[in-house]
Amino acid sequence: MSDSHDQIMAEAERIQALGEAAEREGRDPVNQPTINSWLEAMGLDSPRFRGPSATGEAPPSMAQVWTMYGLGGRPPADDPLHGMMRVLTDAGFTAVLGTNCEQTYERYLRVGEQVRVTTALDSVVGPKQTGMGEGYFVTSRNRWYVGDELVATMLFRVLKFKPKAAPVVEEGAPPVVEEVALATVSKPPTPVVEEAPVVEEGALAPVSKPPPEDTFVLRPMKNRDTQFFWDGTAAGELRIQTCNPCGHLRFPPGPACPDCGALDRGHVVASGRGTVFSYVVHRHPPVPGRELPILIGLVDLEEGVRMVGELVGLEPDDVRIGMPVQVDFRRIDDDLTLPVWRTA
Ligand SMILES: [Zn+2]
Repeated sequence: MSDSHDQIMAEAERIQALGEAAEREGRDPVNQPTINSWLEAMGLDSPRFRGPSATGEAPPSMAQVWTMYGLGGRPPADDPLHGMMRVLTDAGFTAVLGTNCEQTYERYLRVGEQVRVTTALDSVVGPKQTGMGEGYFVTSRNRWYVGDELVATMLFRVLKFKPKAAPVVEEGAPPVVEEVALATVSKPPTPVVEEAPVVEEGALAPVSKPPPEDTFVLRPMKNRDTQFFWDGTAAGELRIQTCNPCGHLRFPPGPACPDCGALDRGHVVASGRGTVFSYVVHRHPPVPGRELPILIGLVDLEEGVRMVGELVGLEPDDVRIGMPVQVDFRRIDDDLTLPVWRTA
């Protein structure tokens, strides 16, 4: 490995050793006006969080909101993520792309509580050859506290890379965000399984032989909310999360029922039959290891939920809105089987 790599990893070790740093208090306590505005911005409405029967709790996925820097805010000098980003920028890895965001909530926050956050450098892995260019995966870990009580954790992973060519953003290409945007704009957590079938194109390179050097394999993130789904596909079952108390079916999976708020959940096995609600013909940008175009469908399952997945065995001109489709399973390797859709 190069001197540059050794320096990067030495810096990573030093910054990791700082542990939880860059501690910040939320600008305001958890408050109802911000909850109201956030619900509107997200297009959500729930009597649990707003209105006469509101419980005084905040939606858990607002965790980041309470400790955002505010317009024009800057991370503190000792921020481990930004320290690591600077090291990589100085080494020529100038571009950044968000890849994963995983949040864990310990409990609901309540109006009036004061939240603080810390940041730690969780890991630095690389160099890796990716479709975007050579880079390092940098994972940071935020922890939110009320007093000494841990209330939420977020693992956030970015790819910090050397762009292969001039950094021209092609139409439809994933956005390359500036570091500063990463610091000042908190995004809501990435939906997990909803995105999984969309990213599958990148995961289809055969794993029995080494992939081409520039193949960027994206895999769906598995966590406590989604593991059952991927266990299902591996077993040839298409599983839909269900709320045990009220029976509501939901997709993508999540920790709480959007109807009744209950955390107690199970799953049902779908028939695998559905109809095409909508679709796109993906012609650009290129997908490593795949011949374009590929067809991505939004499928209405007969159980009443919608899933995104590849439509296989069809030409673009053959697809029709409302056409019946049947799930099939494409085994990638021991760890991943993807659901795909064929004409019924
Ligand atoms: Zn429910």
